[in-house]
Amino acid sequence: MLATETKVKPIDCYHYIDGQYVPSKNGKTFENVNPATEEVLGVVSEGGKEEVDLAIKAARKAIKGEWRKMPLRKRSAILRKIGDLILERKDELAMLETLDTGKPLWLSTNVDIDRAAYNFHFFADYMISVGNEAYQQDDIAIHYSVSRPVGVVGLINPWNLPLLLMTWKLAPALAAGNTVVMKPSEVTPMTATVLAQICTDAGVPDGVVNMVHGFGETGAAITSHPDVDAIAFTGETVTGSAIMKAAAPTLKKLSFELGGKNPNIIFADANMEDVIETTLRSSFMNQGEVCLCGSRIYVERSIYNEFLEKFVAKTKELKVGDPLDPNTNVGALVSKEHYNKVLSYLELAPQEGGTFLTGGKPLEGSEKGYFVEPTIITGLGRNSRCVREEIFGPVVTVLPFDTEEEVLEQVNDTHYGLSASLWTGDLKRAHRVAGQIEAGMIWINTWFLRDLRTPFGGMKHSGIGREGGAHSFDFYTELSNITIKL
Ligand code: NAD
Repeated sequence: MLATETKVKPIDCYHYIDGQYVPSKNGKTFENVNPATEEVLGVVSEGGKEEVDLAIKAARKAIKGEWRKMPLRKRSAILRKIGDLILERKDELAMLETLDTGKPLWLSTNVDIDRAAYNFHFFADYMISVGNEAYQQDDIAIHYSVSRPVGVVGLINPWNLPLLLMTWKLAPALAAGNTVVMKPSEVTPMTATVLAQICTDAGVPDGVVNMVHGFGETGAAITSHPDVDAIAFTGETVTGSAIMKAAAPTLKKLSFELGGKNPNIIFADANMEDVIETTLRSSFMNQGEVCLCGSRIYVERSIYNEFLEKFVAKTKELKVGDPLDPNTNVGALVSKEHYNKVLSYLELAPQEGGTFLTGGKPLEGSEKGYFVEPTIITGLGRNSRCVREEIFGPVVTVLPFDTEEEVLEQVNDTHYGLSASLWTGDLKRAHRVAGQIEAGMIWINTWFLRDLRTPFGGMKHSGIGREGGAHSFDFYTELSNITIKL
């Protein structure tokens, strides 16, 4: 039997439109399943065109209301209050996140919910300091710019870091005075449902934050809607492409954070202890379901065997299982569909010539839940699908390399370009190599170290635009330049 008893009860999820929870007009719902137990947690209202229309109508009305005109200090205080309320309800939100995703409770508590609150605290501070440009052109004219919200923004998100990623978009969108329609992933609807109420409790006027639950079709109804001005999307590359098409006729502003197949490059002069400790996290944290995970590991040949021996030994020590157990390192994959996708790659790997050094199968002895053993694969060719495609589970491939040029060539031989890590004791090499990696975020001798002011996002098929600090503000605002002749 799984799971320690919990006092927090799962919730049924309704849409949130104009400050009210509402079911779908046609009563349509779908089941929300706990991936660790396969038990039904509750039902989720499935939004259709009608709910999307209502939510956008509410947001459209609210964009003309008090929110965008509110004194900056007051709007900032409301954002701060949202962060405070998230922290006040941290245990409840963390439990809901874990029941929805299957990730360890300690991770939900210390990473997902903490960061969700910080997203609001950060932008509450940041928004106060945002200024605009002004230029004096000799004695001819003065030019200055004024900013205004983009308008109604659709926020569409995936299941891997549900509250963290929703707040990463919602906080700057609100800070800049926009109104929104959120569409959380159908697989993880609970924390966003609570977040909507938290926004109202903190003083956000009705109609500013709306939410519609549902599948891809619900998202598509938002992205093609003529009254939506911009779409901020995080999810799969193919979905990004579909959204771009749907948004084209009405020329919406787009921000995309998409998939990745991130390299982790380990040179022989790196500190092996640090490498192993961080590579364990960058490979298997959140069941490998982090867009930034380093799932393609390249190791300089002279330390290849030593690395593998140590990495495999530490990976075998990871405790996989009950997300509510504080000793669990790796929980359940998010859904049956995703579990089957990951297992299909584990079937494929030996056919492509790969060898499992550990893992390669569902967790032994588990009868319920979507648990997969942390898996390390060697022996694969650089063109194998397991090396090239995003598996998004606790599965890494390891390949040896001989020279800097050779590894760079392999690392950049992909249509993805989200993030990369590299490990070396040689400062010159660190900068030289980092500057040549085609990725939006590159870590040297670390991983996942973030400062929310820095640009976050991917190049190539991993994204369009950047989030974070000024970059988020650029996306969620429109500028007008005003010129006065002297
Ligand atoms: P997904 O693209 O399947 O779904 C994401 C969201 O889009 C969901 O809410 C879904 O309902 C909605 N959606 C699906 N089809 C749609 C359509 N046609 N129009 C509008 N909305 C639609 O992604 P997922 O499986 O939920 O998440 C995993 C993916 O997210 C991985 O590829 C991962 O790399 C990526 N991701 C990227 C980042 C990043 O910052 N770059 C962060 C986290 C996850």
